[in-house]
Amino acid sequence: MTRRIRTRFAPSPTGFLHIGGARTALFSWAYARHHGGDFILRIEDTDVARSTPEAVQAILDGMNWLGLEWDEGPFYQMQRMDRYKQVIGQMLEAGTAYYCYTTPEELEAIREAQRDRGDKPRYDGRWRPEAGKVLPTPPEGVKPVVRFKNPTSGKVAWKDVVKGDIEFDNAELDDLIIARPDGTPTYNFCVVVDDWDMGITHVIRGDDHVNNTPRQINILRALGAEVPEYGHLSMILGSDGQKLSKRHGAVSVMQYDDDGYLVEAVINYLARLGWSHGDDEIFSREQFVEWFDLDRITPSAAQFNFEKLDWLNAHYIKQADPARLAADASRRLTQRGVSLADGPALEAVIALYHERVNTLVQLADSVEPYYIDVTPSEELAAQHFTDAAKAALASLRARLAEVAWDKATLSAAIKETCTEHALKMPQVAIPLRVALLGVTQTPAIDAVLEVIGRDRVIARLGRIA
Ligand code: GLU
Repeated sequence: MTRRIRTRFAPSPTGFLHIGGARTALFSWAYARHHGGDFILRIEDTDVARSTPEAVQAILDGMNWLGLEWDEGPFYQMQRMDRYKQVIGQMLEAGTAYYCYTTPEELEAIREAQRDRGDKPRYDGRWRPEAGKVLPTPPEGVKPVVRFKNPTSGKVAWKDVVKGDIEFDNAELDDLIIARPDGTPTYNFCVVVDDWDMGITHVIRGDDHVNNTPRQINILRALGAEVPEYGHLSMILGSDGQKLSKRHGAVSVMQYDDDGYLVEAVINYLARLGWSHGDDEIFSREQFVEWFDLDRITPSAAQFNFEKLDWLNAHYIKQADPARLAADASRRLTQRGVSLADGPALEAVIALYHERVNTLVQLADSVEPYYIDVTPSEELAAQHFTDAAKAALASLRARLAEVAWDKATLSAAIKETCTEHALKMPQVAIPLRVALLGVTQTPAIDAVLEVIGRDRVIARLGRIA
């Protein structure tokens, strides 16, 4: 019988959930979902100096916003200390771990001597028990660390589900410290006990952990635990091929929400960062789960590309339910102190713009002038409110006071004004846009007029014409 698939996302709460972590979480989640398995959230908070409750909250917020629901957890490593200590006790008893009394000063001296001889610096195994070996007497007053008794020969190898065959010589691996002098377990050890206790079948994580994997596998074997599959995801690079930094988009996933990206665009975008399904670029979360498998993850680094994210976002905004876009715009505008109370119906304004923007912030920016007292900038006013334009806008205003308020009639009124003043369409339409909305480019002017409504149009034109 095959085991039920169990994956986990195990962030360290030392900052927000950034885009790289989000992709790791997404792939782990999708793999569990694809196989009808379980996805576990584990908070690796043993680095007490760097872990904060705010960072935990930021991770949970990010996961919730992305819709990556977990089936178990969040588990907190700090709450599992007794369990780690229990396993350390068992290993000491079984002889797969041992006390080491070497002080940091001694260790430094050992390493220096090794360097002088041209050897690779490493722990020399002086406290490692071996058959027939007589160990030194434990010194007074020195609190020992606990070391894992790593095999000294042979190789530790695994078939990485992303990177293929990887192997390390055991001779290259030191006897890892698994408990500090105060008894607290170390990072690699906690991960091992957790993956074991939580029955993780597939460890999907960033490839900055490749070097931890041989040690973790050896400890799992010493514990008689089943070794999970490992898949190490390559880094995400910036669009310039450099390490991803803030300016490349390595910001909190919640920043994408603030910046007006729809969650389906972000999910779709992250899914394609290092994974593909033929030529498919646009797909739903459900399709992704259906298609996702580990064998289509590219072992090479993926590059972040804002234009593509914008393109996807524009696509999802076009498709979005108008009521949802209205709710978002309403929230953003209210935050800016803009009241929607006596302006046009928000959905009608949004319908003019939702196919023209890349982000929800741009959408809110486009919609805002319909609800505020627009004062065109002096520069735009000087450029566009020429005497000829003002005269034309004055007669247009008079016409608009009387005509029926529908696009065809409004369009005819503008054309008549052009003819009357011997002006070309843009010579009237652009000053009109500046007067009404403070910008030179808008959707079709008749549609804009229709939505703004007669009273506001007349009032705004009255201020300049
Ligand atoms: N806590 C580790 C990190 O945030 C992940 C460890 C793991 O996935 O095994 O990088």
